[in-house]
Amino acid sequence: SLAEQTRLSEVLVIVVFSVGSTLAYYLVNWRRKLVLMTLLMLLYVVFAFVTFSTLNIVNNLLYPTLALGIPLLITIGFDITEEITLRIRSEAQVHLLEELNQKTEAENHLLEELNVKTEAEKKHLQDLSELKTRMIRMASHDLKNPLGRVFGYAELLLMDEDITDEQRTFIKNIRQSGDEMNNLITEILDLEQLRSGALNKEHLSFGQMVTQVVTRHEPDLYRKSQTYIEEVTPEPLTVFADARQLSQAVTNLIGNAIKYTPDGGSISVRVLQDQHKARLEVGDTGYGMPAEALPKLFTEFYRVRTEATQNIKGTGLGLSLVKQVIDAHDGRIWVESEEGKGSTFFVEIPLIK
Ligand code: ADP
Repeated sequence: SLAEQTRLSEVLVIVVFSVGSTLAYYLVNWRRKLVLMTLLMLLYVVFAFVTFSTLNIVNNLLYPTLALGIPLLITIGFDITEEITLRIRSEAQVHLLEELNQKTEAENHLLEELNVKTEAEKKHLQDLSELKTRMIRMASHDLKNPLGRVFGYAELLLMDEDITDEQRTFIKNIRQSGDEMNNLITEILDLEQLRSGALNKEHLSFGQMVTQVVTRHEPDLYRKSQTYIEEVTPEPLTVFADARQLSQAVTNLIGNAIKYTPDGGSISVRVLQDQHKARLEVGDTGYGMPAEALPKLFTEFYRVRTEATQNIKGTGLGLSLVKQVIDAHDGRIWVESEEGKGSTFFVEIPLIK
């Protein structure tokens, strides 16, 4: 033999084998580990056969077997646990995916059901809304005729010179109430027409339209001895608008300014260009409004209740109509007001480019 196998060499061989095989096992999968171990065993036998005497190897095969076998078992154990955790995890994931799938299916089903419902409901609401519009139209038209007759007969009675002063006052009250009803009906009809979306837009001069509206209010200004201040830019300020409805909106604003300003006060109307918009400002030195009233001002039937204005008649529909008209023209409306001092309403409509 070339060398004697000592205790030290035996221990060294075993340590080198176990460390080396552990590293090698980590590099291959568990199926190849067994093959690798057999190869290493053969390598050892050849190595021992060359280095030491043959007899000794056969006697001492137990130690190298353990040196190669124990790491094999340990690394296979690790592999198996890893495999098991992976399996468990992926199974959980599959399960989760299945659950998710089921959920989305259920959700899809629910959404379909909801869609059907909302569509049916939408249709139902549309039908109801149409019915309401038709009823309002009918009622308003049907009311207008008898109201006209009440007016006519009241006028006839007033012409009679034989009636007493008291009777005259009563008949005037009838006429006055008829007037209020007529205003209410007109405003409701206007609002309904706006809602039905029938806008008849054309190119028109904003400034010109405003001054035309002011002319119609001259008798009211005169009756209340109010000063009128006008500042209208000579620029045409062309807007794309429904002339009738926009005039109606401006009428409501100017009418309110006159109505909510005591005799002798002043009303101002300004028309100017602000960047790409035409702007109207209707100011008055009237009763004004408390700050808490302003957010609700443009809602239907809302009326400000102050001591100064409680006897002034109205429907609370005028400003909601104004707001709807301005909205329908992609415009903006806002107000500044101080109780006892006056108010200014601002309107902006985009100009034609
Ligand atoms: P109406 O005048 O028929 O009551 P509007 O919708 O036109 O209805 O106005 C709503 C309320 O806003 C009015 O009741 C009034 O109290 C207040 N208001 C409107 N314009 C003015 C104004 N220029 N000055 C003071 N108060 C105003």
